[in-house]
Amino acid sequence: MFETFKNEINKIAKGSRKIDDELKYSFLIALLAVIHLFFSVFYFYFNILILVIYNLASSIFYYTLYKFFVKKKKFFQLMNIMLVEILFFASSSTLLLGWDFGYMIYFLTLVPVMFYLLFTNPRFYGNLKLPLAYSVLICVMFILVKEMSYYIVPPYGQYIPESTVSVMYIFNSFLVFLFEAFFSLLFVFEILHMQNALKAQNTRLDILANLDPLTKLFNRRSMEQHLNHTMDMAKSSGTVFSVIIADIDDFKKVNDTYGHDFGDRVLSNVASIMKSQMRDEDYVCRWGGEEFLLLISANKEIAKSVGERIRCEIEKSVVTDPFTSISLSVTMTFGVMGYIPGYSMEKLIALADENLYKGKKNGKNQVVA
Ligand code: GH3
Ligand code: MG
Ligand code: MG
Repeated sequence: MFETFKNEINKIAKGSRKIDDELKYSFLIALLAVIHLFFSVFYFYFNILILVIYNLASSIFYYTLYKFFVKKKKFFQLMNIMLVEILFFASSSTLLLGWDFGYMIYFLTLVPVMFYLLFTNPRFYGNLKLPLAYSVLICVMFILVKEMSYYIVPPYGQYIPESTVSVMYIFNSFLVFLFEAFFSLLFVFEILHMQNALKAQNTRLDILANLDPLTKLFNRRSMEQHLNHTMDMAKSSGTVFSVIIADIDDFKKVNDTYGHDFGDRVLSNVASIMKSQMRDEDYVCRWGGEEFLLLISANKEIAKSVGERIRCEIEKSVVTDPFTSISLSVTMTFGVMGYIPGYSMEKLIALADENLYKGKKNGKNQVVA
């Protein structure tokens, strides 16, 4: 139980757990119910019956609020009811007991907490008029109660000794500080969680923008970026690399004979073989249709041997359609070109393409460098 609680707190502090409204309001309600309960005991001790009843009733009231509003997720109504209750509680306690009890400080905590609760409620995103209007209302009420307290003699003020009044003032101030600190922390954690969620979403989008959905290989856009970067590196620090353009042989026939879905299966199979045959520092993408572009961090000879290895694996592999049980093996032709300083990306790929074309003309299923 304690471990679970600790884990939850840790998650909240790291911003990996969403602080939902249910949690926020449940905590707020529990805290206010406990405070009212404390006050009812306190006033019972000093024989102020009306405040004992009021505070006791408030505790029960908060419990019912939990049942009817938190459970039913009516958070906006709940916030308004709590706001009215706190305003009424602080004003009436001040008028009944006196300004020096420090009840009016509760007014100060309401403004930021209300901004926070409204800001994190999706219904009121970007709506600043509402919390501003509430703030003005709170301020007007504060001044009004202050003015009234000049003219009204608090009827229960003399029931409590002077020293206890200052203890109450400190106690109320302490609670207000606690509220402010706690809700500021929650706000920070909530922003942290939003930032983390946004980062994760961006990472997912980034992956999606760079991947080919069928083969799960990088797409052409991603390869172009990577190629540009590799060419910059080659220019600045003289690193060596090569490209291979690979094309499935007679793929049109595969589609025409066995259908497009089977063709897609063949494409995925070829892609996974390529991926499994490549080292981490190499890069493969679906360049378009049934063509793949490989970037090999090595010279032309080594790139040729990589192409040969992949060609053999593809030739050996068999794709089976689970529905029709058709089995088929395809072959691929590869055109290799090593990067020569001064070449543009287009020129490098065009030269690899020329080699591919030679291979196709020369009987396919081969690597031409
Ligand atoms: P060659 O040996 O000269 O390369 O002949 P080929 O039939 O492979 O060449 P061609 O370029 O004429 O045909 C490529 C075919 O690839 C045509 C197109 O329908 C198919 N194709 C392109 N993209 C996809 C795809 O995403 N899925 C499927 N199933 N087929 C595709
Ligand atoms: Mg082609
Ligand atoms: Mg082809």
